[in-house]
Amino acid sequence: MSEIKLLAEVSAFIKNRYAHYIDGKFYTEGKQTITVINPATEEIITTIAAADQTEVNQAVEAAYNAFQITWRNVTPEGRQNYLLKLADALTNHKEELAQIDTLCTGKLIGVARFEIEQSCSFLRYYAGWATKISGETISQTSQPSMSGEGYTGFTRREPIGVVGAIVPWNFSVMITVWKLAAALACGCTFIVKPSEFTPLSLLLVAKIAHEEVGIPAGVINVINGFGHIGQALIDHPKVAKISFTGSMATGAKIGEACVKNNIKRFTLELGGKNAAGFLADVDIDKAVQGIIEAGLGHQGQICASAERFYVHESIIDQVIEKLVVALKAIKIGSPLNTNNQFGPLSNKPHFEKILSFFDKARQEGDEIVYGGKAVEGKGYYIYPTVIRAKSEDSALMQEETFGPVLSFFPFKTEEELVHLMNDTPYGLTASIWTNNLSKAIRLVEEIEAGTVWVNMHIALDPSISFGGAKGSGMGREFGSEFIHAYTELKAVMIRY
Ligand code: NAD
Repeated sequence: MSEIKLLAEVSAFIKNRYAHYIDGKFYTEGKQTITVINPATEEIITTIAAADQTEVNQAVEAAYNAFQITWRNVTPEGRQNYLLKLADALTNHKEELAQIDTLCTGKLIGVARFEIEQSCSFLRYYAGWATKISGETISQTSQPSMSGEGYTGFTRREPIGVVGAIVPWNFSVMITVWKLAAALACGCTFIVKPSEFTPLSLLLVAKIAHEEVGIPAGVINVINGFGHIGQALIDHPKVAKISFTGSMATGAKIGEACVKNNIKRFTLELGGKNAAGFLADVDIDKAVQGIIEAGLGHQGQICASAERFYVHESIIDQVIEKLVVALKAIKIGSPLNTNNQFGPLSNKPHFEKILSFFDKARQEGDEIVYGGKAVEGKGYYIYPTVIRAKSEDSALMQEETFGPVLSFFPFKTEEELVHLMNDTPYGLTASIWTNNLSKAIRLVEEIEAGTVWVNMHIALDPSISFGGAKGSGMGREFGSEFIHAYTELKAVMIRY
């Protein structure tokens, strides 16, 4: 099979030029516009209206009313059933959603389908949590009150209220659905502002949730717009929590703005400059396969991807030589062609940013071993690139590219490896590759990152926490951490 044919439903959906989904209805009006470009062809997919303060106010009122009147009063079992039904409905629409996402992001169609499957796994996992959210009972631990009477205490986990999610373009459906699944399970209502590069797929998710699953109007709302719309959500007093995923620079602004807005609750899932360390004992072929998996999924546009590769000096030459042979065999081309293994970068500014990194590498004296340039012709295609950094301080070893750029540096000792891996303001993910489990465990303890994988890189499980140490974020997602993120803890003490 090769180039897949677009479903009629996809073209029909795009033709509608829907811009926002608020209180169970589509809206198409707005003063500004967003032009959606197919990164594989550079053709315009559609132009839609961008929101302004009017749509933000409408969405917040809808979500606030839905929280107060309907959603918080749905029983936990009711919320569980809705989330399970939503998982089934999104599964039924998998191909449609995947095709829209591929058109807007250049993601390989197989990766886009996997994204929808993963989104449904998160929905099913958090459906289970809806009936298991509880506080604790605490026996009296100190002196009774002055009157001599005793007391007992317990805690309750109450839904935080209206959640405003601000999300990036790389996995807009999955990142949003995992936030939404946890927020709805807790009894919160939800507004998402997608990235201006990927405004379409979440509109379809919201429509399916309301029209096919019956999730009440106002529980899930989508407003498309630029960065200032994210800011308007932060500024709105009826939004109780901001759940942000994106770059460190934007995250810092959002954290500051939330604190200034009466200490609004926030979670930040930010970027990384993730490292993978390969000890001398690894099998070279497995190392090469591991590097490709760690660094090149979705053309390197995964926050958890590795960009810095520290390989023991005794094997680094062999690893790079075999890696280049493997990269030369990768089929680059249309993401809708199932024979292709590597698509374009997702948008023009990002494509240009990655090309500028190659200029920096040349200026700094790094060696570009393979790639380092755009593929000729239409589309934002760049060759997967291998760089031998001149110094551990090279821009390519320090700054997040968020692209298919694999930068290498040798090490001699484990102490040196730990120093190199930790020498970054980021701390999202890392991986250690070795056959020696004792060494791996020792290194896991030393590495400063929210997730450390051993002999693997990039695997997400809804039950295992995910998030950034150091500058890569604030708070954690997945597992019970997500329940804490969307509930406020209330302590109750009763005299008896
Ligand atoms: P970005 O920070 O530019 O934008 C993210 C979102 O924030 C977009 O919706 C954007 O419109 C909005 N925004 C921009 N300025 C804003 C402002 N001042 N106030 C409020 N909202 C604003 O990030 P991006 O380019 O879309 O995504 C790439 C980045 O996201 C990378 O750094 C990547 O590592 C990170 N990321 C992190 C994770 C994670 O889970 N940790 C996952 C995916 C992506």
